[in-house]
Amino acid sequence: MGWSAFPPLPAKTAADKLEQQMMRETYTEFEDIAAKYPESGIAFVPDPENGYVGWPDFRVLPQEEYPKGHENIRLGVSYRCWVLNSPVYLLWLKSRAEGLGVHFVKGQVSRLEDAAAILLPSRGLDGGSSTIVINATGRGLDDPASFPSRGQFVHVANECRETISHHWADGSSTVIIPRPLGGGTIIGGTKEPNDWYFLSTQSQPAFRSAEVSATVTDVVLKRAVELEPGLIQHDVAATSTSGFKILQEYVARRPMRNGGLRLESETGPGKPPIIHCYGAGASGFKISWGVATRVHKFVADLEAKQ
Ligand SMILES: Cc1cc2nc3c(=O)[nH]c(=O)nc-3n(C[C@H](O)[C@H](O)[C@H](O)COP(=O)(O)OP(=O)(O)OC[C@H]3O[C@@H](n4cnc5c(N)ncnc54)[C@H](O)[C@@H]3O)c2cc1C
Repeated sequence: MGWSAFPPLPAKTAADKLEQQMMRETYTEFEDIAAKYPESGIAFVPDPENGYVGWPDFRVLPQEEYPKGHENIRLGVSYRCWVLNSPVYLLWLKSRAEGLGVHFVKGQVSRLEDAAAILLPSRGLDGGSSTIVINATGRGLDDPASFPSRGQFVHVANECRETISHHWADGSSTVIIPRPLGGGTIIGGTKEPNDWYFLSTQSQPAFRSAEVSATVTDVVLKRAVELEPGLIQHDVAATSTSGFKILQEYVARRPMRNGGLRLESETGPGKPPIIHCYGAGASGFKISWGVATRVHKFVADLEAKQ
């Protein structure tokens, strides 16, 4: 995945309210990071969104600011949002963590308890009673409430000054997200819940493969340019008939979970304490610092009891 942006959603349930709170905490942290570390890949841009919800610099757009040909939009709003260049940001974050003494080891586990067995010997440690496992495995291990949501996106060299999120009457969305540090623009995309990893077969015709679809790319780009004709820049040598220079088309899967994020601490006899932190759905970056603060609190509480 190459990007992330920040479109907020309305809070209806207690879980939604917690998510909104964590989004606000993350927003504040990202403001701080963007100001202090421009190399982190985070920047703030305007977001004229045809959606809803108040946020910093929020205003309802007058009809004359709607994209041409879309004067029938039901509501258009604009607010200040962050965008990030996720490969740059994640590498920056990793090196910050290493600077603070975090040690990364890669490995596959089938049981959470085994995580410590992989990590600790590599550091010459035997674990003991102080081990705490943080389960940040995206969809969790064998959680029946978890499922993927496939998304096909396109990364183009064409540039855009602001983030645009448009919700179409047919239920689909178009997002146009500039990537800071000259990273071009991410344009999307699809939301295909419960699309697992195998190829489409006759018995499962609804499932889409991991392959990108040229037809989907074409539709996604045509819709984007309908909303923002300024995306077609004459100094960018087009590689597609829609006038875009395509750098990459890709498919990824969001870690969805019925009931939302699982964020809780679990203790039991004969195994290390586990802090579950997965099922962030399409909001992993948006809520990241709020989630991290709560995980940190769980760790501190467990350590206080040890
Ligand atoms: C198409 C798309 C669009 C998105 N748009 C946005 C957006 O607009 N805004 C936003 O905030 N976020 C967005 N996201 C982010 C995304 O939705 C998630 O919320 C985010 O990636 C969750 O991060 P995570 O670290 O919880 O899980 P993941 O990124 O899934 O990471 C989980 C990690 O656990 C590892 N793992 C899993 N099982 C095991 C195992 N058994 N053993 C060892 N390791 C294991 C995996 O290898 C992986 O490294 C988007 C994602 C996609 C795919």
